[in-house]
Amino acid sequence: MDCPKCHSDMETVDFGTDISVKRCTGCGGLYCKGETLHQIRDEWLADTVLDTGSAAVGAKHNEIRDIPCPGCASTMETVEDEDQTHIILDICPACDGVFLDAGELTDIKNVTLMDHVRRLLTMLGR
Ligand SMILES: [Zn+2]
Ligand SMILES: [Zn+2]
Repeated sequence: MDCPKCHSDMETVDFGTDISVKRCTGCGGLYCKGETLHQIRDEWLADTVLDTGSAAVGAKHNEIRDIPCPGCASTMETVEDEDQTHIILDICPACDGVFLDAGELTDIKNVTLMDHVRRLLTMLGR
């Protein structure tokens, strides 16, 4: 499997027993299914283990649009993340694959953690 952004090889990276993603050996971009991304959102430290690429490279690659899906070669669509609209994800309309540039998963997870903290503080304030 080739990375759609920099054409390096993508390797399989497992997290725990039921999460498996493809990570680009060149730019650190991540590819997985939409449902896997939902699982990853709830996994403590998943971003630290999986999202090891350079966020600076990822930010540059985020400008590359209309990439072919690494899974099925359909053209992927750029979609704003439902929770954090500053994060632009590449989503495949055909197979539900998601491509995340390096740093994007960390971004998703960090604000999610902040949201948890905020919710906790609200509860304590009552
Ligand atoms: Zn790449
Ligand atoms: Zn696809």
